[in-house]
Amino acid sequence: MVDREDLRARANARREQARAQQRLRIRRTVTHRDGVHADVDGRRLLNFCGNDYLGLAQHFQVAGALQDAAAREGVGGIASHLVCGHHTHHEALEREIADWLQVPRALLFGSGFMANLAVVQGLLGDGDVCVQDRLNHASLIDAARLAGCRLRRYPHADPEGAVRQLRAAPGGAAMLATDGVFSMDGDIAPLRALALVAHAQRALLYVDDAHGVGVVGPDGRGSVAAARLEHAAQPLQLVTFGKALGTYGAAVVGDADLIEHLAATARPYIYTTALPPALAAASLTAVRLARREHWRRERLQTLVARLREGARRHGFELLPSETPIQPLLCGDDATAVAWSQALETAGFWVAAIRPPTVPEGRARLRITLSAAHEDGQVDALVDALAAARGRIGTQARDGDRAA
Ligand SMILES: *Cc1c(COP(=O)(O)O)cnc(C)c1O
Repeated sequence: MVDREDLRARANARREQARAQQRLRIRRTVTHRDGVHADVDGRRLLNFCGNDYLGLAQHFQVAGALQDAAAREGVGGIASHLVCGHHTHHEALEREIADWLQVPRALLFGSGFMANLAVVQGLLGDGDVCVQDRLNHASLIDAARLAGCRLRRYPHADPEGAVRQLRAAPGGAAMLATDGVFSMDGDIAPLRALALVAHAQRALLYVDDAHGVGVVGPDGRGSVAAARLEHAAQPLQLVTFGKALGTYGAAVVGDADLIEHLAATARPYIYTTALPPALAAASLTAVRLARREHWRRERLQTLVARLREGARRHGFELLPSETPIQPLLCGDDATAVAWSQALETAGFWVAAIRPPTVPEGRARLRITLSAAHEDGQVDALVDALAAARGRIGTQARDGDRAA
């Protein structure tokens, strides 16, 4: 017998361990979605954990654009962009994004995850370094691993830490990569300071603004626009369509030469089928709505303030965040799961976010708001949190203070 570990036995053992740690992840099946309502297991829940921040995912014009384009052009992208998959709907979306964000060029990708793989792998390799915030999205971390460059991480939102890591990795090219709005915390990266660091250290700044574009900054142009960087300091940015814009797919935007290079060489761009053109048409409609309808962002601001004030009145301490991502730290995994279950019993869907998505001891309820929520729904969530506390104990509040 060859001495080799059995993969199935190992996978099953890990699954059992995750179950024992309250860390098992299970999917729930939504049978129908209606705005902020979701039918799950025969019950209608009020959803407070999606990323449809502007309420565009079910907008009739966005769905209509998809239907019209699919009726004319069909569904499949049929080939990669460089073979014969590049369609005028893709072209129009790239132009619209570049115009909105005031950047020279935009390049579409199948998803944000793939775009991050493409950017890091397309630009960095052996001998180079990618310096990243500790709380960056998993796709950025994996991208650096795939690129084969050195990966060095600095403490969250710490430009000094970024300098130290860049200095400690001289030679080769360097990229400084950060989430714009942090996906699990909701805070915004110190982009002005990071841009100075990147400039001084001759590193390319790359901002993953999956949760920023559409939501923050002037005209919803995202965290980079909000930081008002000098023109020369303009970073490469990631825009995703699956969150605030309510559709699917992503774009990398910025310097024309860098974008050109990615289009010609990045493997996650070249060796994959183009997004369905009809989806690009739907995204174009969503972008136009996001640009024009400022009331959606104003509505979000109102709801964020209302949630934070209500939570404060009940003695809950949410993480510091001005974005629609409003996390309530619970500490250990079991407590986070207990909170999530108590809320579900009361008719609210707020998923428990546990390690490894967040650091050990930082399990949380990641409450998210949408412009489609009503004031009374936010008030009801706060009341449900207060009612749940009685049953669960005060661990969540202790967790907050310890953090
Ligand atoms: C969701 C997300 C991604 C991945 O985008 P998809 O289009 O969903 O693949 C990348 N980065 C961050 C910060 C995200 O939150």
